[in-house]
Amino acid sequence: KFSARVKGDYRYELGELAATLNYMAEEIIRSNQVKDDFISSISHELRTPLTSIKGWGETINSGGYDPEETRIGMEIITKETDRLIGLVEEILDFSKLQQNEMKIIMGRVNLKELLQEIMLNLWTKAEKRNIELRLNSEDRPIVIGDANRLKQVFLNLIDNAIKFSHEDSAIDLIVHEENGKIITQVCDTGIGIDEEHLIRVKDRFFQVNPLNGGTGLGLAITQQIVELHHGNMIMQSKLEEGTTVIVTLPLPKKEDIPGELI
Ligand code: ADP
Repeated sequence: KFSARVKGDYRYELGELAATLNYMAEEIIRSNQVKDDFISSISHELRTPLTSIKGWGETINSGGYDPEETRIGMEIITKETDRLIGLVEEILDFSKLQQNEMKIIMGRVNLKELLQEIMLNLWTKAEKRNIELRLNSEDRPIVIGDANRLKQVFLNLIDNAIKFSHEDSAIDLIVHEENGKIITQVCDTGIGIDEEHLIRVKDRFFQVNPLNGGTGLGLAITQQIVELHHGNMIMQSKLEEGTTVIVTLPLPKKEDIPGELI
């Protein structure tokens, strides 16, 4: 009787172990595949601007252009270099977050002012496609956080909203306080994301359409920065209708704020 019980358990445990090992093996294969895809897509992302910079540089250097063409070429070189710097910074940020090494310098941040600053930064980009950026905010939505990192969060979300919006549309930025939290919504009426992709969209490296460019790291980085601020980020979307990203951040506690505030 005793040996039968042991045998039974033993078999059961072996089965469990085999299932776990199989699962781990599948995970490793899957994660290697994701990494391979990332490397091939990032190589392409890096090569495109480099090829353009090299081409323009060589032609300008050989004296083959008149002053106006040279000016245009220099503008493209600067733009493509900025794009490369952005890509490299995104990869470095991601790697810092993976290793828990992103430094957060906390201070008082007024989200309304932060969003106004971002609207100025992105105004030309939105204007080019006649997309209106509208802000509806409480007067002093103060959070405790790293101003540069929070700027990166909302810059990425609003940049995505512009990228995936139709021409002649509007993006609403809404900030309000609710239940001891500051809630910021970025709402577009763009192409939206279907249900199947929506659950994966915050995964690292994931892109609905890799041909759109980018690294697929933006939302993964954004989400992790929000979490470092003890907040959370939710995405709601409907295909062909638009996307809303809701970022919830805690209101500062009294002891977090020096003097005059609250
Ligand atoms: P990337 O930096 O490549 O844009 P993100 O992580 O920022 O990567 O976004 C991942 C994917 O999520 C995008 O490639 C796009 O398919 C989808 N996405 C993000 N924001 C929106 C949006 N506002 N509307 C529609 N699709 C979006």
